[in-house]
Amino acid sequence: MLEALFGAAKALIKAALGAAKEVVVETVKALEGTTTGKVLSHAVESWVRTKTQAAAQAQDLAAEEAEIGAKMARDGKLSPAEWGRVDEINEHRSQLRKQYAQADAAKLREALDHAGAVHAPVSADEIISTVGLLPHKTCQCGAMMAVSTTHTQQYGQWKNKFAWRCAVCGAREYFDPVKEAATIVRAPDADLDMPEAKRHEIWHAPATLADANARLRSHMGEADNEVLCPQHLLPMKIFPSLAANRGLVLDSYAYACVGMNPDGRGCTHRIPIDRLAITSAVLQRLEGRGLVQAGSPARKIHIGGVPV
Ligand SMILES: [Zn+2]
Ligand SMILES: [Zn+2]
Repeated sequence: MLEALFGAAKALIKAALGAAKEVVVETVKALEGTTTGKVLSHAVESWVRTKTQAAAQAQDLAAEEAEIGAKMARDGKLSPAEWGRVDEINEHRSQLRKQYAQADAAKLREALDHAGAVHAPVSADEIISTVGLLPHKTCQCGAMMAVSTTHTQQYGQWKNKFAWRCAVCGAREYFDPVKEAATIVRAPDADLDMPEAKRHEIWHAPATLADANARLRSHMGEADNEVLCPQHLLPMKIFPSLAANRGLVLDSYAYACVGMNPDGRGCTHRIPIDRLAITSAVLQRLEGRGLVQAGSPARKIHIGGVPV
C-alpha cells in the first residue's frame, strides 16, 4: 500500500521494490477517479494550475484568519459569526489538501512514466530528506500529518527515530521505515543516489559544511514553496533557529510558519534544518543542487587534497 505521497516528488510505499510501481499507479488511479481528479486530464499542466490556485486560496484564508486572530488578541473574544467563519476556513483548507493530493498524484504518475524514476529501498537519509514536504497522510482528527525525526546518541551511535506528527491535535505515530521494508519512488538525486558511505564522507567534510552554511544563510527570509505548514498551508520561510547561538552549522536555521491562529497567537510550527539530509534537500529545492557538487566543477570539494 501507499504509505504517503510527499508533495509531487516522492512516494513512500510499504511494499518490496518490485511491486512499488504498480502500487503507485493503482493509488493514483483511485485519486484520479474522484470528482476533482477527473479534471486533471493533462497532469503536469493541471498540477501547476491547481497548485497555483490552491496556494493563492491558502494565502487568502491565512490573511483572513490573521485578521480574526488580531481581533481576538485585541478584544479577547469573537462573535459566533466569526467562530463560524473559522470553521469554514478550516473546511476550505481540507478541500485544498485534497486538491494538493490529487494534483501531486497525477504529477507523480508522470514522473513514474519517465524512465529515469528511481525506486530505492528506504534508508534514513531518504526519509529525512522528505522532512517538511506536505505528505498526504490524514490524522484521525482530519488534519494532515507530517514526518518528524529526532536523533539521539545511544552507546556512541546516532539513532534515528521517525514519527508522523499532527500539527493540529499533536498526535504522534512512531514508525520504522527501514524495518518495514518500504520503497521510495522519486526523481534522480545526486546526493541520495550515491552509496551511503561516500555520501556521508562528502557531507561531513568541513568544506561541505562551510559551503552549506553560506548557501543557507543566503536564503534567509526566503519562502520554500514546496514546504508547507500542514495547518495553514502557507509556504514556510527560512529563519535563524533558536539554537543558532550554539554556533553549529547544522541547527542554525529552521523553517517557520508566518501564519496566525484564530486565538491571536502566531503559528508555532517549526522545522529545524538540523540534519545534512534535510540541508541537502533544502538546497536541492532552492538552487537545483544538493550538497554533492555534481555537475558543478567550479565548486568541487577537495578532501585531503583529492578532488571528489
Ligand atoms: Zn490530528
Ligand atoms: Zn502554520
